[in-house]
Amino acid sequence: MAQRPTRRVFYGSLVHATSLRHIQACPRALIGVSDDGVIDWVLDDVDSASIQDAMISKGWQIEDVDFIELGFGQWIMPGFVDTHTHAPQYPNMGIGGQYELLDWLKNVTFPTEAKFEDVEYAKKAYTSVVQRVLDCGTTTCCYYATLHLQATRVLADICHAKGQRAFIGKCNMDRHASETYQESSPAQSLADTETIISYIGSLEDPLVQPILTPRFAIACCDDLLAGLGTIASQHPDMAIQTHISENPSEIAFTGELFPDCDTYAHVYDKFGLLREKTILAHGVHLKDDELDLIKSRNAGISHCPTSNFHLSSGIANVADMLDRGIKVGLGTDVSGGYSPSILTAIQHASIASKVLAFQASSPPDSSPSSFSQKQLPLSALLYLATLGGADLCGLSSVIGTITPGKQFDAILVDVTKGGVEGIWVEQEVGEELGVQNKARLLEMLEKFLFCGDSRNVRTVWVKGRVVGGAQKP
Ligand SMILES: [Zn+2]
Repeated sequence: MAQRPTRRVFYGSLVHATSLRHIQACPRALIGVSDDGVIDWVLDDVDSASIQDAMISKGWQIEDVDFIELGFGQWIMPGFVDTHTHAPQYPNMGIGGQYELLDWLKNVTFPTEAKFEDVEYAKKAYTSVVQRVLDCGTTTCCYYATLHLQATRVLADICHAKGQRAFIGKCNMDRHASETYQESSPAQSLADTETIISYIGSLEDPLVQPILTPRFAIACCDDLLAGLGTIASQHPDMAIQTHISENPSEIAFTGELFPDCDTYAHVYDKFGLLREKTILAHGVHLKDDELDLIKSRNAGISHCPTSNFHLSSGIANVADMLDRGIKVGLGTDVSGGYSPSILTAIQHASIASKVLAFQASSPPDSSPSSFSQKQLPLSALLYLATLGGADLCGLSSVIGTITPGKQFDAILVDVTKGGVEGIWVEQEVGEELGVQNKARLLEMLEKFLFCGDSRNVRTVWVKGRVVGGAQKP
């Protein structure tokens, strides 16, 4: 899919969430993307007769660019950000729903991950996984790999080759796993972590970054967590990912292992692992003082509702987190979650918020600025899937909206017959090719988020490069 670098101009509809409360819908946008993949300019509400003049006003000539005019039922929007998934668990996606977390890890997940000791198996699996994730419209992905150094290199190589924006973490786990799938010592785990950080750096690809990845507190002894804290202090800008407060049995066991820590969040804080760009997956059962601590450290939560339902973990109170000003993104958490698509996470985040709202024992806060005990609005769902996830990863100035100066990480959505016909978006008499008004565009967006799938994701770009989609040009 190598492409000749060229300027591109898109004319048609643009939709993005600029905040938790606001979706900007532009039925007649004109978007200029430079040949280095950066969005140069965006003009709203351009009449089709004025396209040439509008481009000239930006110093661009139509004969010098690839000009792409979108049709009815098509629009450009930011690519999705998956803030939590496990690349080696795709092979066991969709099974094991009879278990809760700790039994699921032991019986289903650790045996699957152990297979990645075989580098050839890793190449085959990860090639398929990364392309599938891209084709779902996920332009940025936070991946857990396995414990294996070689297989983690393979995952980084594949993201680098395919052009995905990715955080790659070699998982750390030196206890409470299995005899055949566990690191031999903290020293070996830390040495391999240093090696993978150096290796990913050697790729010299700003899209692919290392991320510290202690699996969770249960699986890491004190020396390992302390060593990771030291590595974190040596790399103050590096992202960190781990799990927190997913399941009651896990929380109780963590409390037994770390009796000197008041809460689960305090364990990570004690070892210097709770800071900006720390992505904490789940957070289903967090206490008030943990939420205060997470907020004070400027860390955030990856909300993984599909997984939280599938492994019977519970419902994370995302609305409360948002009211507290805590950063939140969405995660598919494959294979606790059974779908690689952020669309599924959006749908389940909506359902989760509705269940919390109708189970609430008191009426919701009447303030329109409060999310608590209310269903999440469409704007918040889209925000969590794009700009919110970008913010959690420290990338909100780079991606997440279609804004001049940001990189063109975007998808072209098509909800007409080229995609899933069952969405039933029909062009009505009198409607022109472009989407004609904001209300109609927002209606189509909602249909896509709740009824669409990867067949509606026609083209996927990362930093201006075509990397996936159902109909790659
Ligand atoms: Zn996970």
